[in-house]
Amino acid sequence: MAKKTAVYWFRNDLRINDNPALAQACLQSDQLALVYCLEPEEHTIWGFNRVGLHRKNFLADTLLDLARQCQQRGSQLLIVEGKPALALPRILQQLQCQTIYCEAIAAPEEMAQIDSLREQAYEVEAIWQSSLLNPSELPFSIEDLPQVFTAFRQQIEQMGVLAPAPMGWIEKLPELPKAALAIPQVDIKAWAGIAPIDKRSAFPYDQPQWQGGATMALAHVQRYLASGLADQYKQTRNGLIGSDYSTKFSPWLTSGALSARQIDQQLKTHEAMYGANESTYWIWFELLWRDYFRFLHLRFGVQLYYANGLKDVATISHQPELFLKWCLGNTGQPFIDAGMRELAATGYLSNRMRQNVASFLIHDLQCDWRAGAAWFESQLIDYDVYSNQGNWLYLAGCGTDPR
Ligand SMILES: Cc1cc2nc3c(=O)[nH]c(=O)nc-3n(C[C@H](O)[C@H](O)[C@H](O)COP(=O)(O)OP(=O)(O)OC[C@H]3O[C@@H](n4cnc5c(N)ncnc54)[C@H](O)[C@@H]3O)c2cc1C
Repeated sequence: MAKKTAVYWFRNDLRINDNPALAQACLQSDQLALVYCLEPEEHTIWGFNRVGLHRKNFLADTLLDLARQCQQRGSQLLIVEGKPALALPRILQQLQCQTIYCEAIAAPEEMAQIDSLREQAYEVEAIWQSSLLNPSELPFSIEDLPQVFTAFRQQIEQMGVLAPAPMGWIEKLPELPKAALAIPQVDIKAWAGIAPIDKRSAFPYDQPQWQGGATMALAHVQRYLASGLADQYKQTRNGLIGSDYSTKFSPWLTSGALSARQIDQQLKTHEAMYGANESTYWIWFELLWRDYFRFLHLRFGVQLYYANGLKDVATISHQPELFLKWCLGNTGQPFIDAGMRELAATGYLSNRMRQNVASFLIHDLQCDWRAGAAWFESQLIDYDVYSNQGNWLYLAGCGTDPR
């Protein structure tokens, strides 16, 4: 195949290793511009900014680490401001090329971005790569995805479906097209601003070892497994305070600085050396939940974003003043308020506390679950479109699982 000039558009896959879409772009291009688009600030219909300060800061560190990795491999990361459907065509015109490579994301807004680029006659190679398991290796078609997680997991386990091994590092990136040097870039630190972070955070991302990016992600996985914490995970995972009760993989996973397959490989090595137990199994179990929400998106798409989700009728109510109190941690319920204040002060919350505060908003305050999901999107440093939407829908009783 004749090689060409192309653009690699980084989305939620901010890494150079185990990145099949990037590997394909490298293989098929002589010259490659590596681009990340920072979306312009957006105010949600619920009355707050879509991306909060904690998320911005964690993302900024992730991008700076990625930029270093690109430089070490002979290229340069271009961080531009603008909606992808507008910013990328400008770059493509400047470079006089037609092709964009990127990861595929099966969520409505992210799919619309690709549709818009294709409508403008650009060639977009979008490659699925964010799940642990390969959708084509599941023992059922996506249309027949089991509607209950347990049935999904049991079929995977009965058929012995395993995650593919992760790909290694890309040692050398194709050269950057000369014209790319003229593209105006964003000062990422200035863009992120300053987020004061409470010292008691369970994920103190202002400390070097908790910073965003693949470098710290891989070091964290090794440190977590070497510490023996994985061997007690099942007993500790529902904890609320501190850094050790759960793996804390999520902020790196959701930015794509780390892949689920890299974790799986390290976990398998750990089990081979020190023995498997129900705790090490349970980490795989949780990664399967992550996959399940991804596959639900492939199966149901935009339906997961309706007020009634997968149910026939919507009984949605909303009370903006109660919602605001919930966001600010002023509901008058000390336990809930503690969780909401922790979220605002740190950008992170334990899984069990997420369940508590979400359930309280939906079932006690009778507010719209989509408002809660939007607040989490704004606040969480580990915001992930699939897991956030899936968990909120599930707690609102509008998902697949009846529990
Ligand atoms: C209302 C609500 C919203 C949530 N929003 C998000 C989100 O935006 N992003 C996100 O990554 N997770 C979300 N979760 C899931 C879960 O709370 C976090 O993944 C977890 O707390 C992250 O911490 P950890 O890495 O220490 O998790 P661990 O307990 O150590 O789990 C290991 C990994 O398994 C996966 N995982 C664990 N629990 C879940 C779950 N319930 N659903 C999907 N994947 C899971 C995550 O990738 C996690 O990193 C949400 C949960 C709830 C109840």
